[in-house]
Amino acid sequence: MESQSKLQIIYPYEEEGTPPHPHCPHGPTLLFKMPTVDGDEQIGAYYACSAHRDKHLCNFYMAVEEVTPKQLTRRYELEEYIAELKKQRRKLKNTHEGDKLHYCLDCNVPLLPEEQSDHSIHEIFRDVSENFMHNPTRFLRPLQNDKVQAQYFFDNRALNFFTNCFLDLGINKVVCIGAPRLHAHLRNTCHYVKSFLLDFDYRMFHFYDDCFAWYNMCNNHFFDDAQRQEFDEFLMCTPTEHIMIFTDPPFGCRTELIAGTLRQITRLYNAINQLPHQPLAIFWIFPYFSEHHVQQEMPHMRMCDYKVNYTNHTSYTNVGEKGRKLGSPVRVFTNIPLELLHLPIEEEYKYCASCQRYTALENRHCVKCNMCPSKNGSTYQHCDLCGCCVKPNYVHCKTCRRCTQAEEHECEMFQANQYCWICLQKGHTEFGCIEWRKHCKHTPFVGCSDKEIICLLCRRRGHNERNCTQRSKYLEEFKFLGSTQVKFKG
Ligand code: SAH
Ligand code: ZN
Ligand code: ZN
Ligand code: ZN
Ligand code: ZN
Repeated sequence: MESQSKLQIIYPYEEEGTPPHPHCPHGPTLLFKMPTVDGDEQIGAYYACSAHRDKHLCNFYMAVEEVTPKQLTRRYELEEYIAELKKQRRKLKNTHEGDKLHYCLDCNVPLLPEEQSDHSIHEIFRDVSENFMHNPTRFLRPLQNDKVQAQYFFDNRALNFFTNCFLDLGINKVVCIGAPRLHAHLRNTCHYVKSFLLDFDYRMFHFYDDCFAWYNMCNNHFFDDAQRQEFDEFLMCTPTEHIMIFTDPPFGCRTELIAGTLRQITRLYNAINQLPHQPLAIFWIFPYFSEHHVQQEMPHMRMCDYKVNYTNHTSYTNVGEKGRKLGSPVRVFTNIPLELLHLPIEEEYKYCASCQRYTALENRHCVKCNMCPSKNGSTYQHCDLCGCCVKPNYVHCKTCRRCTQAEEHECEMFQANQYCWICLQKGHTEFGCIEWRKHCKHTPFVGCSDKEIICLLCRRRGHNERNCTQRSKYLEEFKFLGSTQVKFKG
């Protein structure tokens, strides 16, 4: 099973009586450990920075056995640093009226005219206008110093799509986590929506006095207490206020961490508003190929066909030479029913009357699967041997019982990365499934077809075990912490 061989990353839930994690300058660290089979003492488990994988950016490392009570209470004061950032902000504001104001793009500091000389060999953005002050991501250099920080900004169509969704859904408060351009867009153009920005980019201090908190989304850590309190107040809602979380995390960020943070904020929202347990509406921007990881953490999240484009990413866009043939691979994952999202016809989406929702124009409805099956922006084709729709360039491998890339297919390697349609675990396909093998000792499987799939559970033709409507007759499924255990009945 996959999860048993993989390094586990434990999210630091701070207030829940779980053992605390030591802090680094970026807040509570993550616990990295190999899962043990029989609850053995952890060997080689350690704590490390939640935000930076790169040792040059944060070198915190502590083996579990090294942790002392003193280490656990140690906090890193960033007050002086924060005070300095806030001072820069005041400087910007005070000069804004009359004087010209500049911004050094190399040092990331605002400059008064007389301060320019120290930056003579740097690239300076001159005469920062009111408009740019309210739209910092339109002139700042995207932070890309680190895989984790990767800043990619939405194009205008994406911004409009999101704001139209908010309007349709009656959302009038948005928590923008790692979405500074959307935050600016909402503040500048959508007066019916209040927005609060949570971002790791310290430069946002230069542009916002309120509705911004310097924040780490990998551990739900606020660097500044005053900002944290302001955020708490933002979460407090009157009966006419409808709030949602919008997040566009760096794609290198682990889904466990994002999900942990989304849960923490939802919990805080419920506590502040004295609600029992109400889910918060979520838009989580992430690539389509991470669908499985997102759903493993948050099984109710569904992927919407809308392709999210960025202005500063050569392949996550539909424009320019390098734009991918199939368009951007980035999608919206949401717990809002997909039926409620209106995708723009003029951007090549259509309404599918059978699915009763909008899907991409190239995503042709399949009557056998009874859905619009495409995930990646191409037109899928139905394979009768797989019993489902597959990418158009795929060919069917009988050994694997799957369609797959024509070139460089190696059955063994391929199967190791598949999820079994019977037991739902990764690492084998159905004929290699131990559960099924145990079962078919009692009732040997007969009958195989060259033309059509035969379900190993119900023996009927035309669908696979995953899609079998009789599944629950044969299998008992126990869901626990995002994974499913499956056993044959009787
Ligand atoms: N498309 C968005 C920007 C997404 S880029 C927009 O146009 O508004 C990812 C954002 O996440 C960046 O702004 C980056 O500063 C922020 N970020 C990266 N790591 C983070 C972390 N650990 N915690 C919070 N924000 C983070
Ligand atoms: Zn189909
Ligand atoms: Zn096939
Ligand atoms: Zn094969
Ligand atoms: Zn069946």
